[in-house]
Amino acid sequence: MSTADGRTDRSLPGHCSRCFLRAAAAEAGEYALLMMLQQTGLARFAVDGKLVEPEQGLRASELAGLQASMREYYGRGARGMLNRIGEAAWTELQQDESLGGKALRILRRGLPRSARARQTLEELARQMSGSDGDVSVHLLDVDLYLIDRTSDSTLGQAAEQPICWVTTGMIEAALRQALGSDVDVEEVNCRVLGAEACKFRVRI
Ligand SMILES: [Zn+2]
Repeated sequence: MSTADGRTDRSLPGHCSRCFLRAAAAEAGEYALLMMLQQTGLARFAVDGKLVEPEQGLRASELAGLQASMREYYGRGARGMLNRIGEAAWTELQQDESLGGKALRILRRGLPRSARARQTLEELARQMSGSDGDVSVHLLDVDLYLIDRTSDSTLGQAAEQPICWVTTGMIEAALRQALGSDVDVEEVNCRVLGAEACKFRVRI
């Protein structure tokens, strides 16, 4: 399905959709999430006052719409809330993953810090991409960049500043787990500003 600006309104990778909703319920509270799901036309996830995860996950436009409702509802607190949802979503993704992912993480412990960071970001990029997305990791000078050309959460949105706070939260949580310390992550460009991709700079 394509939108007016030629972007694809893809179905999110199933596990990403599930993990985002679970993380949002944990951080925002189930009651607030159900209200926002209903406001966003996503009543199929809110049945009989409970969060349900139907077979058919979120589409990109639905994720973008839900995050827009959250930005409106939380106002100045939205950035912090969405950031925490991203962090919790990373934890959910880890619980959802195969044992292979866990084994890889243990192997990675022996690597130098920068290689560990890069491999961890590449794992996150693969999860975000799914089968049809375009999320990649690049090293430029001494900084790592996660480049998200798919940028589901900006689909159909308008804003004057980068809005991908969930992704920033996922990157922060992934690197904290891999490196054992906090890392500076900043979204330096965003598709919502007309850029070709959302660009997250990571200072290791
Ligand atoms: Zn963005």
